Amino acid sequence: MNLESFSLSCDCGMVRHKNDFSGWSDFDKFEAKLKGDVAWENIPVKVPYSNVGISERWYRCLRCSRVWRLVEPDPPFSGLWKEVSSLN
Ligand SMILES: [Zn+2]
Repeated sequence: MNLESFSLSCDCGMVRHKNDFSGWSDFDKFEAKLKGDVAWENIPVKVPYSNVGISERWYRCLRCSRVWRLVEPDPPFSGLWKEVSSLN
């Protein structure tokens, strides 16, 4: 199987077009959407994005197994939604 075309065929990369958040309501709405979607599984964070105590969750797409990090906003940092490129 060609892994690259397999992950491209999954639309999890389209769940959000922006990598940051305009505020808490934007963030909360997005996380509620992930939690309400059976295609996403909450998994333990292996490598935190930041070591200064910003809360973060990892979500795995059950269709293609790609893992994404969701980091809470902490102004002036506006949060982050981004694929975890490597789990090593
Ligand atoms: Zn996916």
